[in-house]
Formats: sequence, C-alpha cells, structure tokens
Amino acid sequence: MEGSAEQVSDRVTNIDDLPVRDELRGKSPYGAPQLDVAVRLNTNENPYPLPEPLVQRIAERVAEEARHLNRYPDRDAVELRTELANYLSRTTGYQVTYEQVWAANGSNEVLQQLLQAFGGPGRTALGFEPSYSMHPLLARGTNTGWLSAPRRADFSLDVPAAVEAIRTHKPHVVFITSPNNPTGNAVAAEDVLALYEAAGRDAIVVVDEAYTEFSHGESLLPLIEGRPNLVISRTMSKAFGAAGLRLGYLAADPAVVDAVQLVRLPYHLSAVNQATALAALEYTDTLLQYVEQLKAERDRVVAELEAYGFEVTVADANFIQFGVFEDPHAVWQFILDRGVLIRDNGVPGRLRVTVGTPEENDAFLDAAREVKKEFGA
Ligand SMILES: *Cc1c(COP(=O)(O)O)cnc(C)c1O
Repeated sequence: MEGSAEQVSDRVTNIDDLPVRDELRGKSPYGAPQLDVAVRLNTNENPYPLPEPLVQRIAERVAEEARHLNRYPDRDAVELRTELANYLSRTTGYQVTYEQVWAANGSNEVLQQLLQAFGGPGRTALGFEPSYSMHPLLARGTNTGWLSAPRRADFSLDVPAAVEAIRTHKPHVVFITSPNNPTGNAVAAEDVLALYEAAGRDAIVVVDEAYTEFSHGESLLPLIEGRPNLVISRTMSKAFGAAGLRLGYLAADPAVVDAVQLVRLPYHLSAVNQATALAALEYTDTLLQYVEQLKAERDRVVAELEAYGFEVTVADANFIQFGVFEDPHAVWQFILDRGVLIRDNGVPGRLRVTVGTPEENDAFLDAAREVKKEFGA
C-alpha cells in the first residue's frame, strides 16, 4: 500500500489533457493516506490475521479451483450465494435463500452495480452526511447526481428532515449507512421504514450494513420481507477480517438480483475469490469470536476515552468517533507523532480511530491521554 502516492514522474500528459468526462476533471481518487507507522488504526480493518487452519483451507480450495482455471467460473456464484444466505439466516434468524443474495468484488462493487441498475444519467442518489465517502464517488462514476442531507448535531439520522429531503428531491437511490461510517451511530428499524415509505416505489433504499456484526443492535435484514425496494448491503471486509479478499454481497427481493445481473460484467467474481470466500465461510464461528473480542475492546476504549473527558459519538461499529477538537488535524498529527495513525475524515471537531488489538488500543490510549494534557479539549 505504501509508496503508491510517491510516484515521482516527469510525465507531460495529465488527466486533464485527455478527453476525460467533464465530471471527472480536477478530481482525485479515493484513498485513505497510508503511512509507514507501527500502529495503523485508520481504515477500519480487522486487526486479526486469518487463523492458520483457515489459511490452509483457503490454499486447498484455491488449489482445487486452479486445476480448472482454463474454464470460466460459475458466473452466478450459486454455491457462494447459498453459503452467504445460510450465514445471514443463521446469524439473523431471518431465512433467506440464494435467490435473494448477490455477491461481487467487495460491497463497493455491489453498490456500483446497484447505481448502474437504478441510478445513472438523469437520476439521483441521496445520502445523509457525514457518511461513507464512497457513496458519492460511486454516484459520480455512474453518472448519478448526488444529493446530501445533513444529520443532527449528535450525528443521528434526522428522520423528519430526511423524509422531507426525500419528498422534495425524489431520489432514485437512497443510502442509509447503519452503523454509520465515520460517526458510528446505528439507525433504528422504524426510521428505515419511515424513509422507505417516503421514498415510494420509484426509489431503491440501500442499507449499507458493512459493520452490523459489531453493533449492539440487530441487523435490519428482516425488513426486506414484503419490501422489494429495500436492499441490505454486507461485506466480508470487516467482520470476517478479509478486506484483502474483496467480497461483498446484498440481500433483497430476487427481482433486485435480476436487475443487477443486467449490469454485472460476465464472470465478474473469479473462481479464486469464490473459493476463498467459501473457505472463510466454513470458519464463521471462529471469525465471529474475533468480532466479540473487538466489541469488548471497543467498549473498553470508549469507557477510557470518556473517563479522560472526550466526547464519544455512539460507537456501534469497530471504530470510534471522538472529540471535540478545535483543530482536529493538529490532534491527528500529534497522535501520529506518537506512532499511531488514526483518521481525520473531515468531520468538524472529530477524529475516528479503528479498534485494534489490545496492545494497539493501549498505544492509542496513551497518546489520547497526552492529547488531553497538550490540548485540554
Ligand atoms: C468498509 C466499508 C465498506 C466495505 O467495502 P468493501 O468494498 O466491501 O471492502 C462498505 N461500506 C462502508 C460504509 C464501509 O465503511
């Protein structure tokens, strides 16, 4: 990851010298700055590497696939979607079948496919910000107009304002992130339903549940019952500790799955990815034990930060937003100078730290105590 931004070049041609689309001119690509620091708590990754028996199982299943890589993979990924459906049914108590599940290379590709199918030129998507910064970037890449509605001062969803924004702008896609990144708040089922009602049958409501396994609350998955315009988006990047795998998925009415199949690339999910994800799903119970450890660590770090006198936004994921700082960037730099990289998401007065191993969290908490001394805050 390091060094990619360091390319020294004497190139004479830049993007803007090319006939690139107007809406891409002068823009920069997504990416959290990666620095070579001992403790990296900036991208919400799971700090635990996959357990060795799972690594061996991945090697086995990939080797098996390698014997027929001359053939295209199962383009509908039926075995994988079946196992993902089993995982969802088992962990939420709400039964889904593979016809209700779709998988792609990270939930980012799932979201992009949804925008390709339901957004696009002349259409709009609405989000409640601050939220995941990829939602507007995916909208831009698919030529979907982006609309933003604000949250309350405590970063919770302002439901009356959200309903009003939906009624006024009539977006074609509505993004609700729960728990929200970077703030950490989850959204209540009744609030999702209020937005769903307001959106009506001309819009798709996408609930991005990338962090739901870390939440104190329940998944919003059962809400898809009888609601064909509601989509739940999930990922193996966070709870499964497999950000490098690139595997995201959705659960929705089978008609939504039919719609994304109109825009997906043929054989978009490689045989290697499918085999790796299937191996990881065999180890669900082990991986979910790491999630329990991380939740306990999160609650410990929150309690410590509050004891130091910081204000912590409701923390329902594997990261914590805290403040309040007059100059968050100065505090970010101060913590970085102590060997801990966290994230400045540009939210006024706040910073975000990912929950790491107990040792990493202690290093962060040491730096946070010094912040209190240095900056008061
Ligand atoms: C990390 C994250 C994702 C995950 O994206 P992948 O492409 O699955 O790695 C999705 N949504 C949100 C809000 C996230 O923070």
